[in-house]
Parts: sequence; structure tokens; C-alpha cells
Amino acid sequence: MFLSRAFSSCAGNLELMLIERVTTSSEDAITPSGVVPSHQWFPSSLWSSTIGKVHLEYAGAHQTGRIVTIKVAINGYGTIGKRVADAVACQDDMEIIGVTKTRPAFGCDLAVRKGYPLYCTFDDADRIAAFAKAGYECHGGLSELLAAADVVVDCSPGKMGADNKSKYQAAGIKWIFQGGEKHAMTGMSYTSCANHTENLNAEGTRVVSCNTTGLSRTLVPLYNHCGSLSVECTMIRRAADPGDSKKGPINAIKPVLKVPSHHGPDVMTVKPEIEINSLAVAVPTTIMHVHSIVATLPEGHGLTTESVLELWNASPRVVIMNGAETGITTTAEVMEFARDMGRTWGDLHEIFVWEDGVKLVGNTLYYFQAIHQESDVIPENVDAIRALMGTESDWKVSVAKTDAAIAALFE
Ligand code: NAD
Repeated sequence: MFLSRAFSSCAGNLELMLIERVTTSSEDAITPSGVVPSHQWFPSSLWSSTIGKVHLEYAGAHQTGRIVTIKVAINGYGTIGKRVADAVACQDDMEIIGVTKTRPAFGCDLAVRKGYPLYCTFDDADRIAAFAKAGYECHGGLSELLAAADVVVDCSPGKMGADNKSKYQAAGIKWIFQGGEKHAMTGMSYTSCANHTENLNAEGTRVVSCNTTGLSRTLVPLYNHCGSLSVECTMIRRAADPGDSKKGPINAIKPVLKVPSHHGPDVMTVKPEIEINSLAVAVPTTIMHVHSIVATLPEGHGLTTESVLELWNASPRVVIMNGAETGITTTAEVMEFARDMGRTWGDLHEIFVWEDGVKLVGNTLYYFQAIHQESDVIPENVDAIRALMGTESDWKVSVAKTDAAIAALFE
């Protein structure tokens, strides 16, 4: 019954409702031998004792008593950039050395308040000087920021990649792009559960889009169990982010007239063994995407609906709840639940699966999942930094460390 049981039994008690999946237990957190953490639901009151142990042991296990700090630059401090900055800043093995803005617009205030050194996206002296005129301290242009960084996380709006990549290569640092860029431009793509190992010590990578990340979180564990998987899915996509006033539709359902859409095949950039096609439609909502998925499992898969749910329950960054029992039957309630959890911006890094929307009939698995598009890729960026820097080879250890540090912010 997963979280639904805990949820319904504490209805009306807000403190107990604030439960979060912590990807490690207090006893077998992260050990030098890389023990795979167990996945349990903990009341928020248990977070702090667990987290302290994770940090202590991680430092001991991987840095021989010394915490090496990775210097991270964020190029493009918008929807994704500001979230990645916070997720990086709370890790004990990395720090934000600067974030860029193209001009002194409103996001600068947030960077200043958070204490992130502000840089200009460009090296042009006039553009840099514009920040001081607007009352912001600007520490220089992009080149100066890159010169001080070990790795840059590019969170520019997309399709700017090729131009920015040449700057990163000239600076001789590692680089991470987002899902708005094409795999062909980066040559590598990344999702924590799919291909952390392949990305170890790479020059750069691309954290796949929010939809592709969401598909990977539930399909990769299934593939790993079954050994083969064929998938058809439909992405029901939000029209725009909440802070976006330029996109639509506002009064239509808009099919993506490119078949298949890029989302499904993009999964194959991180897990080529999964056969997958997708269709996509945009709908007038701003808060989440929903995926409607039909997966064909191989003969002899040995799974039941219940064991598929157990498989996902044991997988990091997947939340399973029963819609009928909890009253969370639409994306509106999912997001309200996420806001109750108290993460900044009401983020939900986990993929949300409705327990009562999952059914396995013979070899055909049907399910729905919801994706908080602005935040599911955020912890992935932190893990991608560790992969490129070669500081953590076990994806599960990185995921546990990333998630514990983020959870500690909201104890
Ligand atoms: P955004 O528009 O909210 O933020 C982009 C930021 O980059 C802005 O601050 C912009 O001023 C700045 N910028 C503009 N030109 C730049 C340049 N040349 N170099 C560096 N920065 C520049 O965009 P976003 O939603 O944060 O998207 C960033 C990337 O993340 C895109 O590749 C997008 O496809 C991907 N992504 C977005 C979402 C989402 O839901 N918003 C989800 C997953 C992935």
C-alpha cells in the first residue's frame, strides 16, 4: 500500500503528513564498501540523525578524511539554474562559485540573497557595467567565472549549447547541459539510474529532459528486472512553467505533430536497450506533465502488479501513492502535497506514480505517472557533477548523498 497507508492513518496531522523518502537508513547509510541503501519512508523528525551519519561516512569513505570541494559555476540562473544552485550549495563536496545573469533583472536579487557571486553571462564591459548601475555587485564576465570553476552547469534556455560549449572547452573545464540541447551536441547524456558509470570522468554530458528523466526513473528498474522492454507512451505536457507568460496553448489541446515525439526515443540516449516510442500533446496547465505508459514485458517476466509497485518503491526518487485513499487524484493535489512538504518553490523531485493507476495484464503493463517539470532533473544534475568529476562511482551512493543533503534543508 506504500505511502498511502501512512498518509491515510495520519490524516489531519500535518506534522506526520510531512513524510519524505530518505534513501538511506540510519544504520546502513553510506559505507566504504558502498552498501546499497534501503529505501524507507521516514517521518521528517528522523531526517537529521540519518543525514549527519551520511556526511560523516561519505567523507571518510571517499576522501580519506578530507572533503574535496568541487567548484561549480551555473551559467543561466533561471528556472532550472536557481534550483540546481541550491541543490549544489547544500552538498558538502561541492560549492557554488558563481551564477550568471544576462542582465540585471529580477533573478539577481535572489542570487544576492542566497549569497551566490553574480557574474554576467557575457564578457562585454558595457553589459558587466550595467549590473553596477542597477545596484548589483557583478564579479565579472563568464570567462572569469569559468576560470575559477571545475565544472559549469549550463542552464541557458536551450539551443545555445554549441556556442557555450566552445567557451567551456576553451576554459578547460567540465560541462553539463540540460534537456533543451540535443544529444548529438553533447555526445553523452545522463540519468542517475541509467548510465552514471558511462559518464564517469567524461568531459561533459547532458542531463536529459524532465520527461525523459521521469520515464527513466520507472522504466530502467523494469528493464533491469526483465532484461528487455518495449514501450509506447503519451506525454501530456504542461503548456508553460508557472513563471512563463509567453507560451501556450491557453485554450486548446495541441498535439506535437512530429511522430514519434523526441521524449521516448530520448530515453535511448541513456538506456539504448529500451525500445520506446512516444506521442506528445500540450495541454493548458502549468504545474506538471502526466505520462500514460504501456510497456510490453518479455515472456516469463515473473512480475505481478504488486511486485512492479514494490520494484518502484525500492527505486530512488519514485513516490507511489493511492489516489482513492489519499484524495490525490489529479496533478493539482500532487502539487499541493508537494507544497505541504515544504521544499523551496513547492518542488517535487520524485516521479509520482498513482498506485491505483498501475495494472499488469499478462505481459502488458499500464500506468500513469506525473512529473514536476521544474524540479525532477535537479538532483540528477548533482549526481552528474560527481560522475564527471569521478568522485563517486556508485550511482546509488551519489543519489543517497544528494537526496539526504536536500532533505536536510527542510527538516
Ligand atoms: P529559463 O528561461 O527559465 O532560464 C534560462 C536562463 O538562462 C535565463 O536566466 C536567461 O536569461 C539565461 N540565458 C539566456 N541566454 C543565455 C546564454 N547565452 N547563456 C547562458 N544563460 C543564458 O529556462 P529553463 O526553464 O531554466 O531551461 C533551462 C534548460 O533546462 C533548457 O535546456 C530547458 O530545456 C531545460 N529544462 C527545463 C525544464 C523546465 O521545465 N523549465 C525542465 C527540464 C529541463
